[in-house]
Amino acid sequence: MTIRAPKGTLDVLPPESGRWRRLLRAFDDLSERYGYALLLTPLFEATELFARGVGEETEIVEKQMYTFADKGGRSLTLRPEATASVVRAYLQAGRSGVLKGAYSGPMFRYEQPQAGRRRQFYQVGVEYLGEPSADADVEVIEVGYRLLEEVGVAEVTVLLNSLGDPADRAGYREALTAYLERRADLLSPDSRRRLATNPLRVLDSKEDAGVVADAPAPLDHLAAEAAAHFDAVRAGLERRKIPFQIAPRLVRGLDYYNRTVFEYQARSYTAAQDALGGGGRYDPLAELLGGPPTPGVGLAMGADRMVAAMPEEAVGEGLDVFVVLADSSRREAALDLTASLRAAGVRADLDLAGRSVKAQFKTADRRGAAVVAVVGEEWGRGRVTVRSMAGGEEESVPVAEVTEWVKAR
Ligand code: AMP
Repeated sequence: MTIRAPKGTLDVLPPESGRWRRLLRAFDDLSERYGYALLLTPLFEATELFARGVGEETEIVEKQMYTFADKGGRSLTLRPEATASVVRAYLQAGRSGVLKGAYSGPMFRYEQPQAGRRRQFYQVGVEYLGEPSADADVEVIEVGYRLLEEVGVAEVTVLLNSLGDPADRAGYREALTAYLERRADLLSPDSRRRLATNPLRVLDSKEDAGVVADAPAPLDHLAAEAAAHFDAVRAGLERRKIPFQIAPRLVRGLDYYNRTVFEYQARSYTAAQDALGGGGRYDPLAELLGGPPTPGVGLAMGADRMVAAMPEEAVGEGLDVFVVLADSSRREAALDLTASLRAAGVRADLDLAGRSVKAQFKTADRRGAAVVAVVGEEWGRGRVTVRSMAGGEEESVPVAEVTEWVKAR
């Protein structure tokens, strides 16, 4: 084999893919239950969308985009995140008012690959457009929290902060710039450059964590409205019993956030101190993209990282029943039985290779089948031998009762 997957990408095969399916299903169900409709947007967009929507000064736009010219000479970029696309789609469709949407799919960032950091990775997320209330922030934060709960990721904490509104930012920017300028000789070259253009970005810098630890915090510069919004978010999270900690220097790497920003951290996922997901309010974004003022708040969870944080027992898809063919002249009967089990909503499979009964039992075991149904010579009398793999009970039952027997296990 000479051709390998590109650096920073991932193949997902069984049994690991069982956890992925469980996660994606949980997200589908949960987002639907909370009223988020499915959204599909392109995997590539005009480069300009991200330059404007994510921000020229960000890590993502400066260093991580997969940008290329297509055969028509257009500059396109593989999406590094989905929020800008969702807001673009909303504006392009001429929508107004509330739109609650959920998406899932791959994102692309040219990063140095390491544990939990890939060049193609998978996110699931929701966007709540057209609603300024703090209750929308709380709902969005709750979706991520409940998702982690449902897939078994334990001891999750929400890190919470408020960046205030763009108008509050001026005073904060001044205080932050003054603080950082006094320590400019300690900063990395990137941060020194950003100090002049976009000092908030310096707070994202891992290299400069030491200097940043005591920097002024946006929370100390909130005007009354943003402060009241932040209080309402905290009260809402308490009501929903979602544990959170204030993280005064959490700003997140995107330019479009205002007010609420948050991230999820779990005890079971500590690789490089990275978050399982995060999000925030982005009221200025629609206008940055040339649309009318449209408030919004959203969330993106890293599926790769959530899968890594899911407990071991969540692995494996399992079958309800594996049909074993013990008499090769009854192959069609085995196919028919499998089809009728599947039609009845049972997860059923069989081996088409004509292997020995022993080998088929091994396959049933490896595939996690709860029950094995043996199609043998007794099929002639309208019966099948069913066997519970866990309990070991075995019984000969009429063909018409197999489904019921399987469902009862
Ligand atoms: P962000 O908006 O950049 O914070 O991304 C939201 C979530 O997506 C993060 O918390 C991660 O779980 C996930 N994520 C972001 N970048 C990567 C990456 N390069 N590889 C894997 N997961 C990522």
